[in-house]
Amino acid sequence: MVKAKADGFSAGLLTPKETAAARALGAGDVEDLVRIPPRRYASPGPLRDLRHLSEGDDISVIATVERVRERAMKNRKGTLLDVRVCDDEGESIQLTFFLFKAHLVNWHMSRLREGTRVLVSGTVSRFRGENQIAHPDYLLLASDPSPEEARAVAAALEPAPVYPLRGAATQKLMRSLLSKALRHVDELRDVIPAAIRRERDLPTIAEAARMLHAPHDQTEVERALRYFRFEEAFVIQSIFARRRAQDVQDAAPQLGTYGDLSRALDGRLPFTLTSSQKDVGEQIAERIAAPHPTSLLLQGDVGSGKTVVALRAMVRAVDSGFQAVLLSPTEVLARQHYSTITSMLGDLARRGHLDAHESATRVRLLVGAQKASERRESLLDLMSGEAGIAVGTHALLTESVDFLKLGLVIIDEQHRFGVDHRRQLRSKGPGDLRPHMMVMTATPIPRSAALAFVGDLDLLTLEGRPREGADVSSFVVPLGDTAWRERMWERVLEEVHAGRQAFVVCPRIDPEDPAQAATPADPSGSEHPLHAVTPTLEMLRAKPGFDALRIEELHGRLPSDIKRERMEAFAAGDIDVLVATTVIEVGVDVPNASVMLVLDAERFGLAQLHQLRGRIGRGAHPGIAFFATQFSRQSAQHDGLVELASTTDGFALAELDLERRGGGDLVGDIQSGTSVAVRFLDVGRDARMILEAREDALVTEALSRGALTTSSLEAPSASEHDALDAAIARHSARGVDNLERS
Ligand code: ADP
Ligand code: MG
Repeated sequence: MVKAKADGFSAGLLTPKETAAARALGAGDVEDLVRIPPRRYASPGPLRDLRHLSEGDDISVIATVERVRERAMKNRKGTLLDVRVCDDEGESIQLTFFLFKAHLVNWHMSRLREGTRVLVSGTVSRFRGENQIAHPDYLLLASDPSPEEARAVAAALEPAPVYPLRGAATQKLMRSLLSKALRHVDELRDVIPAAIRRERDLPTIAEAARMLHAPHDQTEVERALRYFRFEEAFVIQSIFARRRAQDVQDAAPQLGTYGDLSRALDGRLPFTLTSSQKDVGEQIAERIAAPHPTSLLLQGDVGSGKTVVALRAMVRAVDSGFQAVLLSPTEVLARQHYSTITSMLGDLARRGHLDAHESATRVRLLVGAQKASERRESLLDLMSGEAGIAVGTHALLTESVDFLKLGLVIIDEQHRFGVDHRRQLRSKGPGDLRPHMMVMTATPIPRSAALAFVGDLDLLTLEGRPREGADVSSFVVPLGDTAWRERMWERVLEEVHAGRQAFVVCPRIDPEDPAQAATPADPSGSEHPLHAVTPTLEMLRAKPGFDALRIEELHGRLPSDIKRERMEAFAAGDIDVLVATTVIEVGVDVPNASVMLVLDAERFGLAQLHQLRGRIGRGAHPGIAFFATQFSRQSAQHDGLVELASTTDGFALAELDLERRGGGDLVGDIQSGTSVAVRFLDVGRDARMILEAREDALVTEALSRGALTTSSLEAPSASEHDALDAAIARHSARGVDNLERS
């Protein structure tokens, strides 16, 4: 559906420079152009006289030039231009320009002659006890007021959009580009059906575009923004509504059988399922028994016990005569799932062996680094149906793996559940059947974000943690404080001496390149280099007390067999301290690990730190987490970590991340993994509007399908339907672009 954008502008409308600027912003036609959000608006202060000014006031004033003085600056190169102006009440103020080029001095002086009337706008500042305006904007006026002048003054005081600039574009070019686009707004089609615009009190696209790019006042800006936010939400929600409607038409295998395998597995679980695990299990069972593909998002905090929930669903698929696959983001995690699952199933997974259970199936592993023979066996078993369950990495998606009868796909610990990836898996079902799909995540997605970005998935939530007692206490440690820092390392040592193990997490693998560290791309602006895995490992190996310990490193750049060996050695207790990057973030289960130390903790999102912390306190021993930061106690970074230390609720932390960072990494991740591109919406701010748009989109979809006949809304007309189709195609094409770029 990617529409060619080469011929989007009518001939002669734009200059070549304007066309280039439009393209650089991804705009291929007038529809795209009017949807470029201004970054902000430059709003001159209100018109007033010069009495009772305070420092910091943004003002505009009509005044007459009294005197112009040019003087060289004492300590610096350049010229200071002082212009004294006086208003109708006889009050005066100094305008000041610092200029470095002689031609600019001449230019201002030629315009600001004594007796000239000007409209001046700027911010009042104090200098040597006097009010002044440095570098004001000014507009020359005729010597006497006139109706044209009143109009020109009103226009000059309107909010002026300030656009994002790409390449060689200037604000002037952008404004000319948009003013040309505005001449054609009457040709634009309304994406939001008239009935909804009436109900939600929204303008037409033509009105909204004019108010966004040429507003008369701030109220119009607000009204335009409300339109474009709603439009974006409505288009996204219409995409979801259509996908859901499509799901209802597609056929899926019915995985409703609670058979021998399920019974046997439930009979041998090493623990009693929590009521939430049972509940969620029943809800999943009900959905996958349906004859249409279900799309679920199962969220549950770290340690809430999602694996067994997934396993029970997979076993149901096998009992129903189909296969199931569990996908993980990393090999370490895939191997761990494989070993958890095979050991939980025991002889239920030993089909073909003498000691197998009579209804046994096989579980097969598929990961990148695997012996060719092992891999071949896995592939054969999946193709023949001998293996009912496959466990692997996401890489599995892109490879040519054929299943005999794939009925259920479960994706674990993945924020970037790209819609395209999901679609690709959907196509792996037998014949016309589309497998059911469940995505599991420990990163709680705030409801508004879920609706905005993954609104085509049904949300299930696993509450609580099965094992109480294994609590984690968290502490924030200021790295600048030597006593604290040493005490923290001592605690690590104490845990190891008591027979436990430790994680030390660093934000990067190698020390910072000093040339790079100074670039503004480093938002922390911190003067201290960030901790890196390799030097931290060396530091610890040399540290008194630690020099006797077994310390190793783990990060994404190690070959995968080394990674596996390290992880296995750590799980077996053969490594005391693992210095690592966030590769250990997801899912890794080592019950004997009781302490975690995160260096430069402010570099991570709160929700991510909470995930990391979930790696400890998984056994019988209480966990201790240290969040070490170079930021001082007075900083926002430090405050955020304190919140984290005092909260154990991952959902609350995700909401907090959303609040603090207006979306944060989490939403960024979710968004970049979906084909949903947003320009106007902010899931934190616009939560309510997203809900309204969702409701309208569902009703509109049902009305146009004829599935709904009574509603306060009317069915969209054929042309309204077409306009929405076009908007959806346009949005999806943009999303695909984004996905490819990310
Ligand atoms: P997560 O949701 O983070 O993936 P896991 O599935 O890895 O959590 O489960 C965490 C730990 O809790 C595992 O060691 C698992 O065996 C254990 N567990 C799961 N369910 C229960 C239960 N009902 N009772 C006791 N322990 C459980
Ligand atoms: Mg897990």
